[in-house]
Amino acid sequence: MEKPTREELIKIIEERIAQCTSCPLSFQRTNTVPGEGNIYSPIMFVGEGPGEEEDKQGRPFVGRAGQLLTKIIESVNLKREDVYITNVVKCRPPNNRVPKPEEISACSHFLLAQIEIINPRIIIPLGSTAAGFFLPDAGSISTIRGKEFDWIGGIKIFPMFHPSYLLRNPSNEPGSPKYLTWQDIKYVRKKYDEFIRGGANE
Ligand code: SF4
Repeated sequence: MEKPTREELIKIIEERIAQCTSCPLSFQRTNTVPGEGNIYSPIMFVGEGPGEEEDKQGRPFVGRAGQLLTKIIESVNLKREDVYITNVVKCRPPNNRVPKPEEISACSHFLLAQIEIINPRIIIPLGSTAAGFFLPDAGSISTIRGKEFDWIGGIKIFPMFHPSYLLRNPSNEPGSPKYLTWQDIKYVRKKYDEFIRGGANE
């Protein structure tokens, strides 16, 4: 029997997410938000969970914070289609609250399956919830952002601030969260070029 393609495997995960009722976040969702982007990219961004607009559209990072993430990605001449974007939980927590530990543990097998299929070389958790999922003991997001950590399977973890935090802290002064994020995304671009030159993730 032929091995399923990466596209087929991702489709299976998306279908399972669409039918999932493993945690109470399924009760109030309009749509599940599995993730989207280039499943051959060496770069994967992982946020916390879908917000209102994402829940409406079934797509990750399409609200205000998402528009800022798109701007951040485009600031280094990458496109959203060059990377894969998803969240730790695939259904919207009510009123955009932080997902509960039991919701994260009910959902995380989907994220881990996506990682296994896509096999990114570097994962960028956005904000403290996503960073805490990958690096539970590493420290607060302000101390670990912009640093590279080793993770399972040779994958690197490079945490960055969540764009919604940047919306609440709009200063561009040197040392501000936004300023640091522009530095961080330049590093991501550099890594992307290295991975692409090295033929990663084909
Ligand atoms: Fe299932 Fe995850 Fe949605 Fe909970 S958040 S219902 S575990 S897909």
